[in-house]
Amino acid sequence: MSEPDPTLRPAPLPDDADRALRPQRLSDFIGQEEARANLSVFIQSARQRGEAMDHALFHGPPGLGKTTLAQIMARELGVGFRMTSGPVLAKAGDLAAILTNLERNDVLFIDEIHRLNPAVEEVLYPAMEDFELDLVIGEGPAARTVRIELQPFTLVGATTRLGLLTTPLRDRFGIPTRLQFYTEDELHQIVTRNATQMGTPADSEGAREIARRARGTPRVAGRLLRRVADFAVVEGDGAITRALADNALTRLGVDGLGLDGADRRYLRLIAEGYQGGPVGIETLSAALSEARDALEEVIEPFLLQQALIQRTPRGRMLAPLGWRHLGLEAPKAPGQSDLFGK
Ligand code: ADP
Repeated sequence: MSEPDPTLRPAPLPDDADRALRPQRLSDFIGQEEARANLSVFIQSARQRGEAMDHALFHGPPGLGKTTLAQIMARELGVGFRMTSGPVLAKAGDLAAILTNLERNDVLFIDEIHRLNPAVEEVLYPAMEDFELDLVIGEGPAARTVRIELQPFTLVGATTRLGLLTTPLRDRFGIPTRLQFYTEDELHQIVTRNATQMGTPADSEGAREIARRARGTPRVAGRLLRRVADFAVVEGDGAITRALADNALTRLGVDGLGLDGADRRYLRLIAEGYQGGPVGIETLSAALSEARDALEEVIEPFLLQQALIQRTPRGRMLAPLGWRHLGLEAPKAPGQSDLFGK
């Protein structure tokens, strides 16, 4: 029961792709008002000028729609879309091959761009700035550099960890955009639309129950919806009501805030193992047998956003709402009980 439930993790899973109900146009994309309004201006301007749009960097926790927005951008710009990711580009030549194959004004999407190898990143600088590629041919004294002209293109980088991006790379993006967690109302709209498309319509209360427990993340909402739809088909009449959704989600171990077993283990460890903290991230990672990156990128952002935990220079602490969520009393600060007790 203490194993993290992959259904609730916003990292992509194999069955997401084929069943994804990705919005296709900017006007179908719900939420992220500010990002959407700005992008729509930049897209229109690039179209009118017939030029490549400026490079854009999307950052924020996984599952908020970075890839989806990049695809929509290409579609709205009427250009081709190529997709790769930081860890896949092992050598400078891998990136060079992709860049030289781009057509005029194409969108190149690089996911997890903070994980680019430094040698590959070097190639990217002149490519982004001047649409030129400097390739070194040969080795030792015979080595020489050749310069290749590229077609103008738009690089869209996505990262869950803005802090890990090097400054020179970050500075080369003209349009940095932070994606936010979605509100319950936005997720309600997404769930309602997807439920209808899947043929398991949700009534308003049913969709709200899923939206409320989806951790502000459309990818999680989509996944919870699919699981609830399974229950609706097998145990109900195919429609999603509040009672059905609540029952299904509770059986899946998703609590009222959308926290799963792994989140609760994290909170409990700080509460019961360390009297509420502060406790260092390395200690938490070892005690929970979860990679530090997974804690920082996946578990913590939502707990922080919900004010269940606090990050301090000395480590993580359980916040008052965290204690309340666990149904526990926060210990009194040392001396505090004496103050009034005497
Ligand atoms: P990221 O690249 O940030 O990890 P994705 O773009 O892959 O996230 O989106 C994850 C899932 O959530 C996809 O299945 C996508 O269809 C869905 N999704 C994301 N944003 C929205 C949105 N605004 N409206 C509807 N569905 C969305």
